[in-house]
Amino acid sequence: MKKSLLWASVIAVIWCSFAIADNSKIPQRSDIAAQYKWKLEDIYPDTLAWQADFNRLQSQMGSIGAFEGKLGQSSENLYQCLSLRDSLNNILDRIYVYANLKQDEDTRISQYQEIADRASNLSTHLNEATSFIRPEIVAIPNATLENFLATNDKLKLYDFYIKDIIRTKAHILSPDQESLLANARMATRGPSNIFDMIDNADIKFPIVKDEHGNNIQLTHERYYKILESPDRRVRYDASKAYNGAYLNYINTLGATLAASVNDDWFMAETRKYKTTLEHDLDSDSIPVSVFDNLVKTVNANLAPLHKWVSIRKRVLKLDKIYPYDLDVPLARPAKLEFPYDSAVVTVETALAPLGPQYVSDYKNGINSGWVDVYETEGKTSGAFSWGAYSTHPYVLLNYNNSLDNFSTVAHEMGHAMHSFYTHKSQPYVYEGYATFVAEVASTTNEALLINYLLGHAKTKNEKIYLLTFYIQQIIGTFYTQVMFSEFEKAIHDQVEQDGALSAESMRKIYRDIYQKYWGPELNLETWNDIGGLRIPHFYNSYYV
Ligand SMILES: [Zn+2]
Repeated sequence: MKKSLLWASVIAVIWCSFAIADNSKIPQRSDIAAQYKWKLEDIYPDTLAWQADFNRLQSQMGSIGAFEGKLGQSSENLYQCLSLRDSLNNILDRIYVYANLKQDEDTRISQYQEIADRASNLSTHLNEATSFIRPEIVAIPNATLENFLATNDKLKLYDFYIKDIIRTKAHILSPDQESLLANARMATRGPSNIFDMIDNADIKFPIVKDEHGNNIQLTHERYYKILESPDRRVRYDASKAYNGAYLNYINTLGATLAASVNDDWFMAETRKYKTTLEHDLDSDSIPVSVFDNLVKTVNANLAPLHKWVSIRKRVLKLDKIYPYDLDVPLARPAKLEFPYDSAVVTVETALAPLGPQYVSDYKNGINSGWVDVYETEGKTSGAFSWGAYSTHPYVLLNYNNSLDNFSTVAHEMGHAMHSFYTHKSQPYVYEGYATFVAEVASTTNEALLINYLLGHAKTKNEKIYLLTFYIQQIIGTFYTQVMFSEFEKAIHDQVEQDGALSAESMRKIYRDIYQKYWGPELNLETWNDIGGLRIPHFYNSYYV
């Protein structure tokens, strides 16, 4: 990326015209300039180097077995074992992240599917090899552990880790059972992989006509952009076509999600939790009542969301309002496009309240291969931030010049910076942060960006457009996430109470919850309840 040009360029947002007509074809990865692709070579120069590390880990992995049965003998044994485990996991993370990010670049390439699969298997083997550690620590009397911690300075690093194991003692199984469970992961991770393959590699979306009659090949990213079209016929066609593509897989999706929920419950029940929810929250020591209170509070405060539907209906002058009317801007400034090069500079300026160090680290990340910018054929959809402890963060985008994409830069870079600082300041054993707090860094950045844009808006139309977006964002971050969680709880409840799930039953549950959240004024088309089966988060229990 041309740093000097970028840094010197004007901060003002470039408002271009609303045009998607040139999007009839999806670019290939080779069409994209290097400056807009992430640098996976910062992890390994090529797959040969990846393979060498893979072999190294495979041969070193067995050494952890030397500690089996000996952790209670001395504080030094315990320390050495945990330390070795961390260094093995640290290598594994690089192998795993590289293979999966390679696959994200183009999910259709079988070589990358294969290395991602092998990385998963290696991860299962390492988990299996280290699965004796937790049950052995559980078996050590608390007084002995306290004494270990008090007398071995090096072990103090693991103080929180060890105390957290003591906290969850009741849910840690015998070494044999733990080893069996670790091995079972290879079989039970199927559902989310199958969904990814349907959603990113196999699904074919139809072509729809834009407001000028031009053909648009629908993609995940283009779909959300088309929903902003002022032409209702275009929005209707896109909604029907996009959701219809999933309807072709409805039975496969139903069976896959049901398998995923059953897997979640199998893991929770085996670990003696009363529900999957309790299992998932316990890893961060969060009581179930926190979740229940959140859902209850949101349910008691749905009125503003219902009012928002009414306002939209009135401003858009609609007789009846449908989900495909919920994303169209309520005002249209003359120009609506936000090219990436100027967007990253604007985000940089908007983040100034976070201090010069933050801004300079952000700028460095943007300019040194953290981000994979554009949508290409076969690339994983959506946006995320990821990485390993010993790599810099990576951000996947499918940048399509919309305000939403613009805001996503701020959002994902918030996650990336959070990881960057966490990795800088924490030892490996504490490198992860809880999902429960993860969105703080990202949504703070979103809010700073929108504040900045509102402060610099020049016309009333721009302001209304930005405010509409801000409201949508609050709905998306607050109401929608809680709605998703409520849906997840409902389908997990069903299985936990010995019920069965089908595509049809899950669609009905989703439809009822969706209608409750958005209120009686919103009309649903027959295909709107497919959301319960096509949203990737549902294939990772309580991820939202
Ligand atoms: Zn996020």
